[in-house]
Amino acid sequence: MAFRPMRLAAVFVVALVAAPAPPAQAFTGGNHESITRAALPWESGTLSAMADDRDGAINANDHGGYFLAGPLHCDNADYLAPRYAQDYPRSRDEATTELLACIRSSVARFRNAVQAADGLVDAHGKVRAEETDLSSPCVWNESSDRAKCDVLEQLGRGWHQLQDFHAHSNWSDRAAPGPVGLDNPPGLARTGAVPFLDIRRYSTMEDGEWTREVRALVPADLATGCYSDFDSTGVKSADCAGRVTHNRALNKDTAASARSKTGDNFSRAVSGATAETTRQWNDFAAELRRAYPDDRRGEQMICALVHDEPASSCP
Ligand SMILES: [Zn+2]
Repeated sequence: MAFRPMRLAAVFVVALVAAPAPPAQAFTGGNHESITRAALPWESGTLSAMADDRDGAINANDHGGYFLAGPLHCDNADYLAPRYAQDYPRSRDEATTELLACIRSSVARFRNAVQAADGLVDAHGKVRAEETDLSSPCVWNESSDRAKCDVLEQLGRGWHQLQDFHAHSNWSDRAAPGPVGLDNPPGLARTGAVPFLDIRRYSTMEDGEWTREVRALVPADLATGCYSDFDSTGVKSADCAGRVTHNRALNKDTAASARSKTGDNFSRAVSGATAETTRQWNDFAAELRRAYPDDRRGEQMICALVHDEPASSCP
């Protein structure tokens, strides 16, 4: 039930080359799925295409090379202020740069999704049956498919890291009792929407403009964990020594992680990621209405996305 099922799978594959395939997917894959299912008021077939534990668009970033791209999981924004650690190897600025790379990947996907939605309906707002037919499964391989598959892929690949943010950061959690430090970073215990994940607004702004805004909004003690994947500068940390790590310190990918064991840290991550996904969907729908007002095209696009048989459900 990890937010990052493939990570565990990769570890198992290395450790147990000759052993039978581990039940990593079945054991760990459910969190992105249950969060996504709880967040979206979509019909069942479309919802499964987005949410499925293994084959859903929401999990596409945890497969293949995407798995090792830190910004696609909001990794490596680790930081500890001098009052907790002298000479921490990363600056606040470097940590925020990694967070910005994560947000930027989501902004780009949002823009792509708005564009791809144009193909869901014709010029008069009539749903295009062949572009919205999911009777054969979508494939998340970044190549053009039916318009509905393209929109779902862009949304799923843009939302994944926002769900990960809630599991990988200290935004809503609390530190364990005892000294704060590398293995027990401060928790910010925040509730409510994350103000610097306003993806819709950023999608209409210049990069420099929204990044300045985010830098001003990020709390000084915000951190995600160092993970041995590639950060935004192309560096892959071998062991994250001397840093706040994903594995030991911060992740709430499962209820059994060290950080999840303090209070209700795990359920805070899950409810934060769920509310995040609902917000992101609502914002996307609002942007479709704004971008495609003529002949209620935007409204018809939303109808085509949430229904399994839009050609008949959205006259
Ligand atoms: Zn991930």
